[in-house]
Amino acid sequence: GEPEGELWRAEEHDYSPDSENSARTNAALISLVRNEELGQLVQTMRDLERTWNNKFNYPYIFFNDVPFTEEFKRQTQALTKAKCHYGTVTFSNLQLVRPRANIFFSLSSELVPKEHWEVPSWISMDLFQESAQLLEEQNIQYASKISYHQMCRWNSGMFYKHPALEKYRYYWRIEPNVKFFCNVDYDVFRYMEDRNKTYGFTINLYDAPQTIPSLWPETKKFLAANPTFISENNMLEWITDDQARPDHTEAANGYSTCHFWSNFEIGDMDFFRGDKYEAYFQHLDRAGGFFYERWGDAPVHSLGIGLFADANNVHWFRDIGYNHIPYLNCPNSPKCSGCTPGKFFDGADFLAKEDCRPTYFKYVGTH
Ligand code: GDP
Ligand code: MN
Repeated sequence: GEPEGELWRAEEHDYSPDSENSARTNAALISLVRNEELGQLVQTMRDLERTWNNKFNYPYIFFNDVPFTEEFKRQTQALTKAKCHYGTVTFSNLQLVRPRANIFFSLSSELVPKEHWEVPSWISMDLFQESAQLLEEQNIQYASKISYHQMCRWNSGMFYKHPALEKYRYYWRIEPNVKFFCNVDYDVFRYMEDRNKTYGFTINLYDAPQTIPSLWPETKKFLAANPTFISENNMLEWITDDQARPDHTEAANGYSTCHFWSNFEIGDMDFFRGDKYEAYFQHLDRAGGFFYERWGDAPVHSLGIGLFADANNVHWFRDIGYNHIPYLNCPNSPKCSGCTPGKFFDGADFLAKEDCRPTYFKYVGTH
């Protein structure tokens, strides 16, 4: 069922879309997405609006490395009573658009540095090509697709610096073609704020160690240089478990590869904007693994949270039924439909071993 204690419910507070004094907290739904994915994003938004946001009307902020098409803006805004904003991640002038009022305004004072998206100057393209080749030979998806590496880096250390998010504290990340199965009747952002939660997830799984061989060694270097950063109530045991899948931990040089799947995340940007995570990201960025390996934003966020946050402030949203191919979070509840309760994966049986929840529950528990 849903969490206990007092929860903010739509019918008890003012969540009307245009209210100046609404009960909404300082939060937005965000997505980095391509124009070509409009159809899949429509499916995501329909699910999220039906199960949750039509009651709360949190704004959407969409990001792209090229300008959004008028068709993209029209179709997305038509799915919600909430406001939609559209930003680019590379251009130096951010354009915010309000199609409803048909007012177009750009905040030229809020510049997006081109360094947010561009491949950093210290990355050698020759070395990138060479390493990508080796990863391709190990059948690592997207290994030689440079934009995929840029996307992972942007999600790791840039999204929360974007001017369009400056005034917001909490975000809920969504992706095209994900599914939401359960009606959720309380304000999940208020839940985060009221309980002082830093990070919320639905799916917890193993990563492909070949994409992150030096991520844990680099992390250990960072920790050795900053020994006071690690939180008292950290998740080191979950991070370094070598019992459940010793082959993985070995190939990832000491990291279990367990992580929160970041295509869904509800988080407090104050954490990512803080000194510790920022210094950690800078260290990783300089080390080059976003390009010479294929570090994902999911393991990077997870290590950051697992090391620098308090485990009590990380929440499993067990009540938010969710699917991103091929994994699921499917609660056994009358509020849910469209998925099989308890099922973790959709597809071949070998996917079952990618579930890291047992290890997470064992070492961290649910909060
Ligand atoms: P996967 O889930 O790891 O297979 O990666 P996805 O292809 O789903 O990419 C993750 C998210 O980033 C999705 O929301 C994509 O729409 C978005 N994305 C990835 N690459 C790009 C890009 O080059 N440009 C834009 N605008 N969005 C991207
Ligand atoms: Mn995806």
